[in-house]
Amino acid sequence: MHWQGCDVAFLTQHGKQHLVGPPIEAALGCRILHTEGYDTDKLGTFTHELARPGSQMDAAREKARIGMALTGSSIGIASEGSFGPDPVGGFVPWNTEVLLWIDQKQDLEITGWAHGHAQSLQKPIQSLQELELFALEAKFPEHRLTMRPSHEDHPAIIKGIHNVPSLMEAFERCRSQSNNGLVYVENDLRAFCNPTRQNIIRNAASDLIQKLQSLCPACDAPGFWVDRRIPGLRCRVCGRKTRLPISEVWHCQICKMQEERAIHTKALADPARCDHCNP
Ligand SMILES: [Zn+2]
Ligand SMILES: [Zn+2]
Repeated sequence: MHWQGCDVAFLTQHGKQHLVGPPIEAALGCRILHTEGYDTDKLGTFTHELARPGSQMDAAREKARIGMALTGSSIGIASEGSFGPDPVGGFVPWNTEVLLWIDQKQDLEITGWAHGHAQSLQKPIQSLQELELFALEAKFPEHRLTMRPSHEDHPAIIKGIHNVPSLMEAFERCRSQSNNGLVYVENDLRAFCNPTRQNIIRNAASDLIQKLQSLCPACDAPGFWVDRRIPGLRCRVCGRKTRLPISEVWHCQICKMQEERAIHTKALADPARCDHCNP
């Protein structure tokens, strides 16, 4: 085991260490060194105060780097989520989670990914009735809410609302501060406020663990994983090559070994996926 007994820095403020720490420690025998020594909200938040610069991976790298600097460990982990519309239809709120593992000494960077429907609703409301309906749709109180007066960028935000009395209090306060009669209510997307997101973060941890445990057959380095897929699965009807993959190329970051492995899930492609049969 590559990381048995090693300390792994994890900078996070929103309880993510409880989601990803135990399974990673159990799988690798390492020790997660949780640190809160830096305000990660400075790197961007989901609540409009500060847009996140750069990509999701850049943000994760920055967090991992700061965590390693704070703890003095050469191994670090970082979790970063992003929210938007789903990539296929564009109608469903979508959450992508990345969990990044950096080992500076081995010059390794390994990433676990997971995606799924997000519990991420937002709405301007006026009445208690509307608030009640929204709370139901937003899966409150298991999922916490944020609220602010007037509009989605108002600075007087109340976060982490998790029970009915505090919901009522927040609503009254925001309504009294509102200049247009509206109160803007949203799902709180921070990990400890959103069980739907917690599940996706757990899935990213499983993906990361699988990759960390996959060893290169040539040099035994961890992180041996699929780098790209080769298209060309033949159509069941016309026999032409489709864009569906026929094999995948596994890659080692350390010795650069590559291995093409056939995918045996299906012998032939559905003609619905064939550009000739279904243009
Ligand atoms: Zn290798
Ligand atoms: Zn075809």
